[in-house]
Amino acid sequence: MAKTKTQFGYHRHPDQDRAGADVAEHAVVVVGAGPVGLSLAIDLAQRGQPVVLLDDADRIGEGSRAICFSKRSLEYWDRLGIGQRMVDKGVVWSVGKIFHGASQLYQFNLLPEEGHKRPAFINLQQFYAEAYLVDRVEELLSQLIERHARVAAPRAWLAKWHVLRVTRGMASDLKSEADLALSQTQRALDNDPTCALALAMEGFVYCHLRRDLETAERRYEAALNRLREPDRELIVGRVELGLEYAELATLMNKPSLTATRVAVSRALIRLAAEMGVER
Ligand SMILES: Cc1cc2nc3c(=O)[nH]c(=O)nc-3n(C[C@H](O)[C@H](O)[C@H](O)COP(=O)(O)OP(=O)(O)OC[C@H]3O[C@@H](n4cnc5c(N)ncnc54)[C@H](O)[C@@H]3O)c2cc1C
Repeated sequence: MAKTKTQFGYHRHPDQDRAGADVAEHAVVVVGAGPVGLSLAIDLAQRGQPVVLLDDADRIGEGSRAICFSKRSLEYWDRLGIGQRMVDKGVVWSVGKIFHGASQLYQFNLLPEEGHKRPAFINLQQFYAEAYLVDRVEELLSQLIERHARVAAPRAWLAKWHVLRVTRGMASDLKSEADLALSQTQRALDNDPTCALALAMEGFVYCHLRRDLETAERRYEAALNRLREPDRELIVGRVELGLEYAELATLMNKPSLTATRVAVSRALIRLAAEMGVER
């Protein structure tokens, strides 16, 4: 089986933690980030339609399933700006030949007319097609960030993308990925110096790419300070000081152990959501 080319990591979305009847509503939700779902999401985004794309896996597909992509699909991907990349990587076919031993029995031309931009089909493993679609999604995200230059959070997400590229084995140049990630977090922090996500991402970069644990810790502390006081106390008590739930219940005036456990879980979920950290 071929190695996974792209792994995004799991991101919990704040929509998932809405309570009761406070249900999130989005005009368009595409379920499934295979070639079809990714293409549809890109197509809609290029037309200015906000779209939420969901997948039940945190990576592009493994192994080769689709290996033939037709002329029509390539023309469609031209519209999404990635047709040429697919053709450059794939093996181009228009003519088929059938042999018996060394003798050719039959030849057929799937593209009998001249002047078509694209061949009859290409052979390309599905995971390459998906990886190029994912790259296009990232480009669109960058364009969105440029259009809304004063919003901090998307830049912080882009910084995380550079960390993931290294931790998931998609890039090996730590220095250039770290520089790119830090340029994003610094611009995010210029816009909003208290943005917890950007602070946390800087922590990730210093920890994973620069191996500078002191700065990473300072950033983590700054992000933690963005939480509400009770959440902070629960996390510090349970995670940093290692207190038992019974001790925490007394300290925090909780009616039961169960209530304390739930409060700690919720505080951690909020911390994860604030920091954009995988659980
Ligand atoms: C063994 C094999 C060989 C094949 N060979 C070829 C070939 O040679 N040529 C060819 O053209 N085609 C081939 N196919 C078919 C090709 O793989 C499909 O046509 C193509 O993958 C369809 O793309 P898609 O985006 O519709 O679906 P998929 O690629 O299946 O993507 C669906 C996505 O949705 C996600 N998902 C599913 N359910 C949920 C859910 N409930 N919630 C959230 N996410 C969900 C999945 O994780 C996946 O990422 C082959 C398929 C197989 C299995």
